[in-house]
Amino acid sequence: MKFSSLLFAVLTAFSIPAAAQVVVVNSPDSLLSVTIQCNEAGEPYYVADYNGKRMVEASPLGLRTNNGDYSQSLKLTGNKGSQISKSYQQDRIKASNISYNANEQVCTFTNNDGLTMDVIFRVSNNDIAFCYALPHENGRSSVTVLDEKTGFAFPQQTTTFLTPQSDAMIGWKRTKPSYEEEYVADAPMTAPSKYGHGYTFPGLFRIGDDGWVLVTETGVDSRYCGSRLGEYENGVFPLAFPMAEENNGNGSVAPAFALPGKTPWRTLTIGETLQPIVETTIPWDVVEPLYTTDNNYQMGKGTWSWILWQDDSINYEDQVKYIDLAKAMGFKYVLIDNWWDENIGYERMEQLIKYAQSQGVDVFLWYSSSGYWNDIVQGPTNKMDNSIIRKREMKWLQSQGVKGIKVDFFGGDKQETMRLYEDILNEANDHDLMVIFHGCTLPRGWERMYPNFVGSEAVLASENMIFDQHHCDVEAFNATLHPFIRNSVACMEYGGSFMNKRLNRGNDGGTHRRTSDIFQLATAVLYQNPVQNFALAPNNLTDTPQICLDFLSDVPTTWDEVRYIDGYPGKYAVIARRSGNEWYVAGINATDKEVKLKLDLPMFAGSEVKCYSDDKAMQPQLKQLKIKANGKTDMVLKPEGGMVLVSSK
Ligand code: CA
Repeated sequence: MKFSSLLFAVLTAFSIPAAAQVVVVNSPDSLLSVTIQCNEAGEPYYVADYNGKRMVEASPLGLRTNNGDYSQSLKLTGNKGSQISKSYQQDRIKASNISYNANEQVCTFTNNDGLTMDVIFRVSNNDIAFCYALPHENGRSSVTVLDEKTGFAFPQQTTTFLTPQSDAMIGWKRTKPSYEEEYVADAPMTAPSKYGHGYTFPGLFRIGDDGWVLVTETGVDSRYCGSRLGEYENGVFPLAFPMAEENNGNGSVAPAFALPGKTPWRTLTIGETLQPIVETTIPWDVVEPLYTTDNNYQMGKGTWSWILWQDDSINYEDQVKYIDLAKAMGFKYVLIDNWWDENIGYERMEQLIKYAQSQGVDVFLWYSSSGYWNDIVQGPTNKMDNSIIRKREMKWLQSQGVKGIKVDFFGGDKQETMRLYEDILNEANDHDLMVIFHGCTLPRGWERMYPNFVGSEAVLASENMIFDQHHCDVEAFNATLHPFIRNSVACMEYGGSFMNKRLNRGNDGGTHRRTSDIFQLATAVLYQNPVQNFALAPNNLTDTPQICLDFLSDVPTTWDEVRYIDGYPGKYAVIARRSGNEWYVAGINATDKEVKLKLDLPMFAGSEVKCYSDDKAMQPQLKQLKIKANGKTDMVLKPEGGMVLVSSK
């Protein structure tokens, strides 16, 4: 860094006079810059520039609460800068050893009644995180936030990569919203959303040729609701609270917390390329573990009969087949899905769990979350929504040595539901249980906040490919979005890597998978979740090429590092992940033409690697590939095909 830019960064971060009306916060490398001020009406706003280019236009800040209005007639009455520098370890996100360095600026705004609100900004090299903090003031020890003025505005050339929020209480057994809607890629900002309720986090914005911005929130726990982006209006995507109809209309829309207290962090990841979007760790950088654990939870792979064999397979004999499949593949887990309570029964489940354990396979069991907020009848129901019954159930699970639960069908994003997620996680940890959520909200920093949280769906997952050919037809399109959007900010339990071509029990009917086997292997690397339940079936042991089975047996589910290599969301994606000394470089193509890649792979420079690719007939092949000393190599991705390069051991 040049001396002049260093001096500028130090001056702006630490030396603004307390009464200044404009605050500028720069990133440690000075490329990202955030300016915060009020307009003539005393409404606070921020803008963000990267490398001299405007990436975020004037975007509103502020809260309206039952204690006072912190959104207009405000004065910026103080600001205080400091440096944040921390390192931490994580075992279940995209990276394991993480350093976070940011300039923090606390901007204090005072309203006409003399009440104060802090807006805390943290600016690291490619990320902005901000939240609101309210003091214990005027005799008030609690606050209800009626609405936020927070918004996100982008330059006019911006296009969007967003997924809509659904109506509440629609879909299967009235279980929505559940973050299972389709993305629209490269849409104009003015396009209305499908349901008229805006969009769920995260949202990706392409600022024309200038770069990219990924917007989400993190640190949401029992002390706030989950928020989303509202409909685009007056040049702004406003932050929106849950809809009143969520949770069958029960529970408040407006979040409340004790004072002093603060809101979750809203984050913007900003870069000229997609590299910072893929590699960001901001959802975990600004949160801390909420409790500790004595349990050494083991991440790993599993089988689950439900995905291909569906409800009919939840019987003792079929579950034995999937336990044996897990053993044959060297997987740690079997996931036994809905109806086990009735179709197998608690007594025989105890035998089945013992059988699994005798084979070296541990068990995850499915539960419904509800409850009064949907019409789910698949059992077990009404065991996770009430702490008395939940504890009794978890004691039984613990006594049987069950390792985890998959809890499905939550009712929305109200604070009430965030409390339920947290209570399930916290009590599960007391009973040595890991937790996977399905039919659920986006996890917001939860891998770090809750040490037994190991996965969430919150995506149109593999099951939809069984239900409807349309989802097979758009599988590749969706798969090239997730590394840049949904899966960049949180783990994603997709339940994929099919080896069946036909998605039914006999591999002879049902929907038709269009993507290649190598594409399926590549998604095992592209999709990051610390527990991966793969969509294999017992027939795959005899009808699938051995190179594919070996790959799935070997592929890690936890990673030490991620690198963006190439791609464009909706078209193709190439991502590298490292586990220990091994690199995996995975690529997929969603277009109907070959993508000719010119890859720069310094991690493989001068070495020989295993190269998994599609042959002319789209059959899987494994070859050795020598990478030049400069790390450069050419590869071709076939339409709806893929590739994986793996370090040779
Ligand atoms: Ca689902």
